[in-house]
Amino acid sequence: MTTAADAADSRDVRRLADWDADRLRSLAGEYGTPLYVQDLDRVRANYERVAGAFPDADVLYAVKANAGGAVLDALRAAGAGAECASAGEVSRALDAGFEPSEIHYTAVNPPARDLDYVLDAAPEATFVVGARDTVDRLDERGFDGRLALRVHPGVGAGHSDEVATGADAKFGVPHDEAVAVLADAVDRGFDVVGVHAHAGSGILDADDLAAHREVLDRIAAVARSAPADLEFVDVGGGLGVPYRPEEPALDLGAVADAVRTALADVNADLVLEPGRYLVADAGVLLTEVNTVKPTDGPTLAGVDAGMTDLLRPALYDARHEVRSLAPGADARASDSVSVVGPVCESTDVLAADRDLPAPERGDLLAVGNAGAYGVEMASNYNSRPRPAVVALDGGDDRLAREREPLAALTRLER
Ligand SMILES: *Cc1c(COP(=O)(O)O)cnc(C)c1O
Repeated sequence: MTTAADAADSRDVRRLADWDADRLRSLAGEYGTPLYVQDLDRVRANYERVAGAFPDADVLYAVKANAGGAVLDALRAAGAGAECASAGEVSRALDAGFEPSEIHYTAVNPPARDLDYVLDAAPEATFVVGARDTVDRLDERGFDGRLALRVHPGVGAGHSDEVATGADAKFGVPHDEAVAVLADAVDRGFDVVGVHAHAGSGILDADDLAAHREVLDRIAAVARSAPADLEFVDVGGGLGVPYRPEEPALDLGAVADAVRTALADVNADLVLEPGRYLVADAGVLLTEVNTVKPTDGPTLAGVDAGMTDLLRPALYDARHEVRSLAPGADARASDSVSVVGPVCESTDVLAADRDLPAPERGDLLAVGNAGAYGVEMASNYNSRPRPAVVALDGGDDRLAREREPLAALTRLER
């Protein structure tokens, strides 16, 4: 990007205010709105910070945060592996040039179609299983390759209950059964290579880190009693980013210290799987105001992006910063504004009750930290075509994903 953003790339976090307004306006003019802008230089800078804080770790990118080919390509070239949650993600990772051996497939209640696809397309991948049943299904298919066990630590960290997966029995084998399941897998001839625990998403402050330490202690205990020499202990993702401007950035060094301390006497390599941290602050969603409606409460700014473009506010009550990019907006009176989308659902609110320059029709707004779990969760509900994505790369921009045409909505109908 430009000078302000370049400076931000050496920082722990890029704030919405750091993005160059002229540049974003010109991108919106060229590509239209709603538009995701994903800055690959910032993605690389984020990866380098993680790799620097954990110099001995293998860093796998959690593809579900943003599976766009441009992002996958940038992270593969930077040295990351890929953590995939589905056959579709494995397929996209292979397309982006990841070697099967660089892929971990986290099989959560894997559909047979997914298992069969991954066994066929990437048999050298590491299969991370979270249930005895999944071990059985791999055994039935004659697989005796790389297997890691996902442990459900029974404690969790994270930014909301919905995503504090460490505390959810859906994910992983209970920690007190893990050693028995590992022993069984060894007996059955699998190449048992590791243990895994993902604490949930959004470790940011000291409380989150304290909860994360409990997860680390549990996984370390399992690793110490493992019935095989483990190649790695995978501590999952969950590195958080500040969604509010006043929140400080994550102290990566403190997380690294906690991991080092917990795993000090565990003789295995460290694996991390950050998703959000690598891509969130590298992306914004641009949207245009098309309707201004005064109410008894906040003024409503109706925009052309909604929950079908960015689902997190409706799904998790997630908070995303909004900034007006309208020229001269700073000189306008400020107003209490709710930014609402075009979808016929009352939850279609991108931001509620914010202090913003009084909106006018035609204003361009930027929604911050939209690079993670943004375009990935886009849907066609209300028959809304999914938005375009533009990638910024070394000062250039290119269309990374076309805006879906209306014709795409019926393409698969018979
Ligand atoms: C979602 C997920 C991640 C990434 O989580 P972030 O919070 O985006 O870092 C990593 N590992 C697993 C198993 C996940 O499900």
